[in-house]
Amino acid sequence: MTSWQSLHTRHPRSWHENKFVYPVLSRRSQGISIGVNLNPDKVCNFDCIYCQVDRRSEAETKFVETEQLLVEIDHMLSLVANGALFDDEPFRDVPADRRRLNDIAFSGDGEPTTYRNFDEIIAAVADLKQRHALSAVKMVLITNASMFHKPAVERGLAILDANNGEIWAKLEAGTDDYYQLVERTKIPFRRILDNITAAAKVRPLVIQSLFMRINGAAPSETEIDAFCERLSEIVAAGGQLKLVQVYTVARPPAESFVTSLTDAELEAIAAKVRALGIGAEVFGA
Ligand code: SF4
Repeated sequence: MTSWQSLHTRHPRSWHENKFVYPVLSRRSQGISIGVNLNPDKVCNFDCIYCQVDRRSEAETKFVETEQLLVEIDHMLSLVANGALFDDEPFRDVPADRRRLNDIAFSGDGEPTTYRNFDEIIAAVADLKQRHALSAVKMVLITNASMFHKPAVERGLAILDANNGEIWAKLEAGTDDYYQLVERTKIPFRRILDNITAAAKVRPLVIQSLFMRINGAAPSETEIDAFCERLSEIVAAGGQLKLVQVYTVARPPAESFVTSLTDAELEAIAAKVRALGIGAEVFGA
């Protein structure tokens, strides 16, 4: 693996002196993604067994400093635009066709929609994107969908819609038992399904589905069939699903009993999704 290819799997959350903003060479978009970490305290309302956030060490930064975050995004947008990002190791070897800025992605070390002033920060970043005349650059929200019913989050989603936004919502179980096994949260599965359905009625969503081996066992056929039924129910209720991204663990996860599926296993899951008439893409380990 060359140094720029290894950037796909490293995704460090810090960049020089930055506290909240970091550049990533995104495998999924084949371009540069500017990551925004709205959860520097590493607190999340899920505790996914495959999570790649290192929670063994205490967070150095506890709170988002909005002004600082916007300064960092502003600076990063300039670094990509003027090419200075690519003077820097490890971005030096990124090929020319992957140097385009694809998106600003809200993800980070927890669930971004739990950020208290979610709508305000989304509005401020959208404004910054407009000031840089980057209307073609997407704003991607990577989310577990647990907070979509909150008014500030609903407002934030609407701002994303108006600014070339895309919502990537996590759904990786078909049954309540498997959901609890994987996500380890007090938030009911029904809440996630209802939130995804309601949001997908307003705009097409991308579904992110990480499947893995747990103690050596891949998800059962029954579980995958139930997962497909949940997707069908969302569509039957009027939800629009743009794409299902089927992927697996690519970096060391929280729990050592979690390992990756093979490309063939992921393809088999994607084929079942496609049989429903929903687009699916596979991203192997
Ligand atoms: S929702 Fe994301 S950040 Fe939270 S535990 Fe799961 S993988 Fe980690």
